[in-house]
Amino acid sequence: MFKKILIPIDLTDLTISKPALDVSMELALKSNGALRLMTVETLLPASFMEYVPPEFDKTQEERALRALEQISSGLNYPKENISHTVRFGGIYVEILAEAEEWGADLIVIGSHRPSMATYLIGSNAKTIVRHAKCSVLVIRA
Ligand code: ADP
Repeated sequence: MFKKILIPIDLTDLTISKPALDVSMELALKSNGALRLMTVETLLPASFMEYVPPEFDKTQEERALRALEQISSGLNYPKENISHTVRFGGIYVEILAEAEEWGADLIVIGSHRPSMATYLIGSNAKTIVRHAKCSVLVIRA
């Protein structure tokens, strides 16, 4: 039974997150568990920093947080058992770090069906499965 389920969400590709959210809720309901929706914002290269306003990171973080809250407001799950996190950095690095820091016992990721592109380039899903210390469920959209 899973008590702490981490659901990494790509805010630019919500269609693959929907089935992952549905499965997460189904699993969490069995244990009255906690869901954490997280997203990773990639950092701008340092050379761009002088062209963006000083509060850029903060604005980006708030926007991402609001987007996650919007998603969870549509979930049929007790709100007190849902939390949200925005992290900055590399996608799988930050997902793995959040899973460890929060003590997740399951990570649920949505993933496209494998294609030639993922075969050649590799994917976040693959790296998370390989390196996570907890269980990982990959839901194919
Ligand atoms: P694909 O299925 O296209 O190969 P990935 O391997 O990147 O893509 O897996 C997609 C999953 O990775 C998403 O469903 C999400 O769980 C996670 N993911 C991708 N980008 C982000 C992001 N910026 N923040 C959080 N999670 C992400």
